[in-house]
Amino acid sequence: MKRLKAKFKQNYYQIDIPKTIEWLKSTAMPGSTVKYINDFPLDEKASPTAVFYVSKPNRAIGHMNYVHLFNSQYGMLVSGSDADVIEKHAEVSAARCLECRDVVYSKGRHHVETCTCGNINVDGGDAYFKLSCRPGSKYRTLKINLLTNKITKCQ
Ligand SMILES: [Zn+2]
Repeated sequence: MKRLKAKFKQNYYQIDIPKTIEWLKSTAMPGSTVKYINDFPLDEKASPTAVFYVSKPNRAIGHMNYVHLFNSQYGMLVSGSDADVIEKHAEVSAARCLECRDVVYSKGRHHVETCTCGNINVDGGDAYFKLSCRPGSKYRTLKINLLTNKITKCQ
């Protein structure tokens, strides 16, 4: 497995990251570090889940190390998990378009991500991996670790 340098799209909801970090810090224990990790496909949710890390959550009121923000029929919702859950979902299937070089991955069961040139798209979140492409387009399948941003070739 070879490591590749590549960028992929983050912050699907275009959340105001600094503002959200300030909000999460205000709910955490003093001295807590808070950062945005990535958008994850979680538990077959239809829409992407934005994941933030909080180093010292307030466990007295049930908070956990990872905060999930996701869209639902009720609007944006918040939930949480600890490292065991997030680590289980960290590695996702992805594809690189060899025309525009974009790396794309599906962030939720009904989230389709298309590369810039439109040759390939992926779908399925963590429920399944569906890759569609225009006839004759070239691509490589990859794995992304969403905790480390490391991208590895499949073959
Ligand atoms: Zn492309």
